[in-house]
Amino acid sequence: MSKDNKSDKDWKETFKKKLNIEPGVHLGESGSKDKKKFTFSFWYFFIILLLFLALNTFMVSRQANVYAVDYTQFKQLVSDGTIRRVAIEEERYIGYPFSRDQAVTDLRSLTSDPNASTATALLQSFSTYKVDDPAFIPLLDEKKVEYYATPPAKPSLLSTLLSYALPFVFILLIWRFLFSKMGGQGGQGVLSFNQNKAKIVAEGDTGVRFDDVAGADESKYELEEVVDFLKRPEKYTEIGGKIPKGVLLVGPPGTGKTLLAKAVAGEAGVPFFKMSGADFVEMFVGVGAARVRDLFRQARENSPCIIFIDEIDAIGRSRVSAGMGGNDEREQTLNMLLVEMDGFDSRTGVIILAATNRPEILDPALLRPGRFDRQVLIDKPDLEGRLAILKIHTRNIKLGEDVDLRKIAQSAAGLAGADLANIANEAALLAVRQKRKTVLQADLEEAIEKSVAGLERKSRLLNAKERERVAYHETGHALTAFLTEGAEPVSKISIVPRGMGALGYTLQYPTEDRFLLSESELLNTIDTLLGGRAAEEVIYQEISTGAGNDISRASDLVRRMLTEFGMSERYRNITLPTTQSGIAGISGAREYSEKAQEYIDCETARIVNERYTKVKTNLEKNRKALETITTKLLEKEVLNGSEFQALAKSEVID
Ligand code: ADP
Ligand code: MG
Ligand code: ZN
Repeated sequence: MSKDNKSDKDWKETFKKKLNIEPGVHLGESGSKDKKKFTFSFWYFFIILLLFLALNTFMVSRQANVYAVDYTQFKQLVSDGTIRRVAIEEERYIGYPFSRDQAVTDLRSLTSDPNASTATALLQSFSTYKVDDPAFIPLLDEKKVEYYATPPAKPSLLSTLLSYALPFVFILLIWRFLFSKMGGQGGQGVLSFNQNKAKIVAEGDTGVRFDDVAGADESKYELEEVVDFLKRPEKYTEIGGKIPKGVLLVGPPGTGKTLLAKAVAGEAGVPFFKMSGADFVEMFVGVGAARVRDLFRQARENSPCIIFIDEIDAIGRSRVSAGMGGNDEREQTLNMLLVEMDGFDSRTGVIILAATNRPEILDPALLRPGRFDRQVLIDKPDLEGRLAILKIHTRNIKLGEDVDLRKIAQSAAGLAGADLANIANEAALLAVRQKRKTVLQADLEEAIEKSVAGLERKSRLLNAKERERVAYHETGHALTAFLTEGAEPVSKISIVPRGMGALGYTLQYPTEDRFLLSESELLNTIDTLLGGRAAEEVIYQEISTGAGNDISRASDLVRRMLTEFGMSERYRNITLPTTQSGIAGISGAREYSEKAQEYIDCETARIVNERYTKVKTNLEKNRKALETITTKLLEKEVLNGSEFQALAKSEVID
């Protein structure tokens, strides 16, 4: 971390020149510097205040030997001749025990004859507040006391200025203090509306290379292309090619999205602006939009470069689903992002990377071509991937003789890269705790248990039995698709658990775009859906909950064939609709007779049963193929389309 900061600093220096950054614009973590300036000015203020107090006391002490006396006493002093001279001020009388001429001569003699008591006596004077007494002036005249009037004291220019300015300064300081607290960024915070917090990461600064990312080869390949474009744009532009403007990294948490983006920065050798989606969001409307604008302005000035927005779902959330009233600030930020992304084309050499683990909540406008037109999926790693990740994270750990990383990888099915990194580290800590110099297999096993216990609810590990059942289930889907004429070919079978719920999956890619499906194609789909459960029954003579989703999808499809598509025997070509929305928003009320409902229910059951029996018979016939493919799947966790086709072709008897 500290090493990062240092090189960051060097980097800032060079880039400040290049970026033409005014001193007010901060890159990275310069918030602390700002705070220092703030406290400094506070002390400055404090010192001024102290000076003022000192000055005040000094001015008061200058009048220390003026004795305040009662008016009657004052008059008495005049009458008995103690007071020889009176100054008539606005509110007071000041009486001096000597006349003007006398003061001058006495002061002269004082310089030659330093007699302390004379001096004090000379300097003593008396003051009293005025009383509306018409007899006073005549008394002075009578006693031959000198008197004179002084104009009301004018406040000095300095003190006037200060009395006006000080409250202002004070309020300003308090204001700044409060806002800096709110913004949490020293003086920066909320007041710096259009300054963005984009962090520029230098080439090699992240210290991450593509080699540090394992098990995400396809995603890596796509991003390597992005890096290549930034390094040698001619190669692509010469033949008129266009590189995507935006690349969205999608995948479950901890699979290495941020890591991959860092690797891109490390490899690309161009400025890399890193920002998190949440950095745009501030409490005032418009701040986020200003930050987006500023970020893109900086990026354009520094092209070729990469902008990376991590966790983009913070601002990219769908505007419709934002609920009642929506969120103005986020909406404006998103709109500005869309506008800015349209505002340049990829030839300017700015490429936007973004990462999210919730692509489904992103606004569709973000995903359309011309914006994030390329989506790179980073899935949880399969066995080989996990092994490679473990190897990376045990590079600097001393492993004992008995360590078999492949075994560890096998028992960590369903864990993401971040979990594996954690396991490697945890194992090292366990070894240290037991005062060993090397990490043993047992440490790694315990580490898995530990980290899985922590994850229990999120992504639990399957035990061997469950895994086998899942493998049979998925193979059942795939094999049924293979056996069904006209069904779309299987492109991938996987038993790597994905997110919540799905324990495995079988992907079928349509060979061409489909806008309508024939009756038989719909039935094929239903067969494939039922294949999973059928395979379980063939092998275990018992069904499980694992197929719940398949079953509901299959029966739903059958029901829609009967009601929506008019494919039933009795109500052929007739729709049996349900209300879409009533006055009170009630939907789902049927608009057909009780009898028709009964028919639909019976037919649904009949069709599903018929298909299921057929599928099961087919699988029973090909039990050997089912077993061979399942064994292979258990071993490899993922089978791609061609591997599966090859196996199926050699095993299936038909
Ligand atoms: P995400 O951003 O997808 O949530 P990260 O990129 O932050 O995940 O990953 C967290 C950590 O997990 C990384 O810093 C790295 O140590 C480890 N990691 C995750 N995936 C991989 C991978 N494919 N190869 C190597 N390490 C990985
Ligand atoms: Mg991340
Ligand atoms: Zn299934």
